[in-house]
Amino acid sequence: MRCPYCGNGDTQVKDSRPTDDGSAIRRRRVCPDCGGRFTTFERVQLRELTVVKKSGKRVAFDRDKLARSIHTALRKRQVDPERVERMISGIVRQLESMGEDDIPTDVIGKLVMEGLKQIDEVAYVRFASVYRDFKEARDFEGILREMGEEE
Ligand SMILES: [Zn+2]
Repeated sequence: MRCPYCGNGDTQVKDSRPTDDGSAIRRRRVCPDCGGRFTTFERVQLRELTVVKKSGKRVAFDRDKLARSIHTALRKRQVDPERVERMISGIVRQLESMGEDDIPTDVIGKLVMEGLKQIDEVAYVRFASVYRDFKEARDFEGILREMGEEE
C-alpha cells in the first residue's frame, strides 16, 4: 500500500484487527520513509457497481469517493469514526443488494442523506445543500434555523 504522504510504495502494517461490527479488517500502517501513519480497511465486495450520473455518464462506483464526500459533510463535527464507517458500509451493502449493477446518483444521494440524518444533522444539511443544489443561500439558512443550528 502506497504512502499517501510521500508516495513510498513500501509501508508496514503495525496493527491489524476487525472493526467492531466485524465487517472489515482495519490495518494501521506506518511509512518507514517519512514516518506517516494511516489506516486501511479490507472489506468484502459483493459486486461491481456502476454509477449513472444525471448527464447519463457512467463511472465505476468508488467507495473511497463516497467516503470522502461524507467526511467532507462531517468536517469538524464530533462523530465517532467507527460509526461513520458503519454507515458507509451500510450504504454500500444496500447498494449491492438492490439487484441492479447500475445505480443512479439520486439513489446514492438519498441513502447518504438518510444515513447522515441519523448521525449528525449539521452534516446532513451540508450534504443536502450540495446534493439538492440549492439555488439560493436562503434555503440553506432556513433549514439551519429550523434545526436551531448556527454556522
Ligand atoms: Zn511516507
